[in-house]
Amino acid sequence: MDLVIRHATLPDGRQDVDIGIVDGRFAAIQPNLPAKGAEEIDARGRLVSPPFVDAHFHMDATLSLGLPRLNASGTLLEGIALWGELKPVLTQQALIDRAMAYCDMAVAQGLLAIRSHVDVCDDRLLATEALLEVKRRVSPYLHLELVAFPQDGLLRSPNAKANLVRALDMGVDVVGGIPHFERTMADGAASVRWLCELAAERGLRVDMHCDESDDPLSRHIETLAAETLRCGLQGRVAGSHLTSMHSMDNYYVSKLLPLIAEAGVHAIANPLINITLQGRHDTYPKRRGMTRVPELMDAGVNVAFGHDCVMDPWYGMGSADMLDVAHMGMHVAQMTSTQGVARCFEAVTTHAARVLGLHGYGIAPGHAADLVLLQAGDPYEAIRLRGQRLLVVRRGRVLASAPERMTRLQLPGRPDALTLEFRPGSIS
Ligand SMILES: [Zn+2]
Repeated sequence: MDLVIRHATLPDGRQDVDIGIVDGRFAAIQPNLPAKGAEEIDARGRLVSPPFVDAHFHMDATLSLGLPRLNASGTLLEGIALWGELKPVLTQQALIDRAMAYCDMAVAQGLLAIRSHVDVCDDRLLATEALLEVKRRVSPYLHLELVAFPQDGLLRSPNAKANLVRALDMGVDVVGGIPHFERTMADGAASVRWLCELAAERGLRVDMHCDESDDPLSRHIETLAAETLRCGLQGRVAGSHLTSMHSMDNYYVSKLLPLIAEAGVHAIANPLINITLQGRHDTYPKRRGMTRVPELMDAGVNVAFGHDCVMDPWYGMGSADMLDVAHMGMHVAQMTSTQGVARCFEAVTTHAARVLGLHGYGIAPGHAADLVLLQAGDPYEAIRLRGQRLLVVRRGRVLASAPERMTRLQLPGRPDALTLEFRPGSIS
């Protein structure tokens, strides 16, 4: 064996498991693995998870915080206006530098697959070219896929259709859209139809910003699900945000959920962004605005969480930490049951991998040996602590490592080292 990790806990609850890796693949996963490894690592009972996957991000805008100025109101609309001010002065080199810096942060956090939207409404397609170059550069260590995203509206922005097709011709992977930003509901529905037909023609996946508003009558997810069925795109389409579902009439939603499930449309919530940008027109009570995550899951819909933004015109916080995203999602959706917390962990790992259609993802024999060793005993504690990424491995190669997070206490007559890890019942 090239590498053996001993005494690991897996996300499904298996404990004291040894993980053997040969030629970049998992060769054995079992207790007391007899084979020796050229390199051996003792996980000491801590969680070994498949790497984190971000199903929704904007890498063309990331790390641009403060350029050309800060978002004073902190609202979605000022964010879009700010991005409009920044776009004409962007340079390709600056886009590449910021995206590469973000990918470094991502790897350090055990985030090894990212689906990023790229704005195709700039006629120069500067960001598209830049992110395709970044995709090429990071491919030895990070799966980056791009969505052609008509930020200013497919029909509303004069050259968006032509630019979107050009971006796909250049190698962008996924067809994007933003139906709620078109001028009318009818235009929004027409954009969904056109984009789904384009994706079916080209054999591509679809991921649309869909109903990202507090409007209870926004109905584009219904159109997206129906078009998915009509075009035979089941399992290949994702609806991102779907925040209007938070405000929809319950009777209507009882009809909508089975339609989304039937169409095999994936749902992507972006908890950090939804909780900060939605409900802004409300006084009190103030809506949370995130889509109906547990209800979608109960209906059989695959739901992932995305980071969406890190230090950009829309959101000044974030650190490429998908556990931060899961932590917020768990709070906003009130998913505090044991099953709910486990599902929040899956929303940033296995569920997100399913949205991207990643093959051979997960800790199982024959799969690519991609994993993260966390300073946490299980997924519950990983979310609670946003546990330190002690080791990040891809294809059997260590990409990043970090020391344990530990505080040295100086209390009279007391033990001097403290980590925040805690096994329930361990000090009774
Ligand atoms: Zn987005």
